[in-house]
Amino acid sequence: MIREVFDLKTDERIEIHDITQEIQLIVGQSSCKNGLVNIYSRHSTSGIVINENEKGLLKDFQDALENIVPPNKNYNHNRIDNNADSHIRSFLIGNTVTIPLYDGKLDLGTWQSIFFVELDGPRRRKVTVTVTGD
Ligand code: ZN
Repeated sequence: MIREVFDLKTDERIEIHDITQEIQLIVGQSSCKNGLVNIYSRHSTSGIVINENEKGLLKDFQDALENIVPPNKNYNHNRIDNNADSHIRSFLIGNTVTIPLYDGKLDLGTWQSIFFVELDGPRRRKVTVTVTGD
């Protein structure tokens, strides 16, 4: 098993950041060929997702997040910390994904990429990658 934590700097309040290459690099450095790769964010205003890296679609996803969870509502959490919308979006997205590792490679589909989703940027973030298997 290996565990790596890498840093990420985000520039926007909402930012959908492709981290597939970083994960592939870590997987390549491990001696595991078959098993599981877990990608995890310890931050409660962020998300980890898998989907297609197509510019228009990423904009659509961002628009959907803003429509489903509008920024300017009378949220309870905003009384102590003005970022309830960021937390709620994170609740909905989730903060971890696990991907099968097969024959030394991430078993992603042709159109799948791994994204870190910043929901309360700009910030410095950490992503934890755990590779287990044989
Ligand atoms: Zn908060």
